[in-house]
Amino acid sequence: MTRTTPPRPVDAEALFPALADHRRTSTRLHPRHGDPKADESSVAGPFLWPTGEPWPVCTADHPKGIGHRLSDVRLQRRILDEAWHRDPDSGPTEAEREILDTLQPGPHAPQIGDADPIPLLAAAQLFTRDIPDLTGPDGCDLLQVLWCPFEAHGPGRTIDVVLKWRRSQDVGEALTVIPEPVVVGRAECVPNTCVLHPEQVVEHQYEGLLDEDLQEAIEEWEVGNDEEDDDAFDSSTPSSFDTYEEYEAAMAAAHADEEYEVTYRGDLSIAPGWKVGGFASWHLTDPAHIACEVCGTPMPPLITVAVSEWDGASESWIPLEDRDSVPDSRISDPTGVYLGRGLMRVHTCPATPAHPHQLSFQ
Ligand SMILES: [Zn+2]
Ligand SMILES: [Zn+2]
Repeated sequence: MTRTTPPRPVDAEALFPALADHRRTSTRLHPRHGDPKADESSVAGPFLWPTGEPWPVCTADHPKGIGHRLSDVRLQRRILDEAWHRDPDSGPTEAEREILDTLQPGPHAPQIGDADPIPLLAAAQLFTRDIPDLTGPDGCDLLQVLWCPFEAHGPGRTIDVVLKWRRSQDVGEALTVIPEPVVVGRAECVPNTCVLHPEQVVEHQYEGLLDEDLQEAIEEWEVGNDEEDDDAFDSSTPSSFDTYEEYEAAMAAAHADEEYEVTYRGDLSIAPGWKVGGFASWHLTDPAHIACEVCGTPMPPLITVAVSEWDGASESWIPLEDRDSVPDSRISDPTGVYLGRGLMRVHTCPATPAHPHQLSFQ
């Protein structure tokens, strides 16, 4: 099934023609649980990896035997997922809860020393034929993304990402069993296996990086929208209540009537969810200027890994095909990955894609 982002609630460039100079495309990946093959784009699916090529390992010095068993992470998710789909309100059965109680983090692999190599997790495999915004070194049509599932690298104590570009026709015989670490630092570093439904969309630059005039015009427009809503609210809602329950009921009723409030950030700027290309959002920190360490070229985000496919402020991006399935977490949070404070980006050098990448987090 394809995934279709609805048209934006308003035409951003008709409202603000100057935005045309701050437009970029991105490809939303729309990961959904599935059973991808090694020659398909996927999150955490089988990789098209040559049998003769060593699998990347982490050799950094950090505790590698303490954490969650990878098999426990998967079992826990399966149990919770089945319970939710049986009945979202009643939770796991007593028998399931007993199993869940045994799935605790701990020193599960004491035989692994801090400097011992552990296989990286296969995070994503992306073919350029599927993803129009995926551009890499000349001739390469496949990007494989792997990471060490311990947040223990570099000054930011983050995961460590390895990118492998290749020509798929050169792979020859492919690995049938992918190496995996036994223990992972945090369960949220482990992606669920997903098939992808890539869809190209248009984005506009993060508001804080636009010219001041344009920022002001957008702000005025948003304030105008807000005042319209407030007028509607004020005329129908009494200003005092006898009990807290009455107040709460009135607020709930007002909220139910409230129309979805269109904002630049939520609806017109940056697509939520896992994606390739497009812009980076800087809603939690000041914008960072990320440039290539080798040649100084500004590095846009190539891959964005997101905690969810949308949130309450970006519901207009929910694909048409999924609107009846909300709030199923298999749709809104298919990968189960939560890095940084919700977003992890891999920035690559557009001038020479083989130059070292950098990560940014929000
Ligand atoms: Zn590591
Ligand atoms: Zn460079």
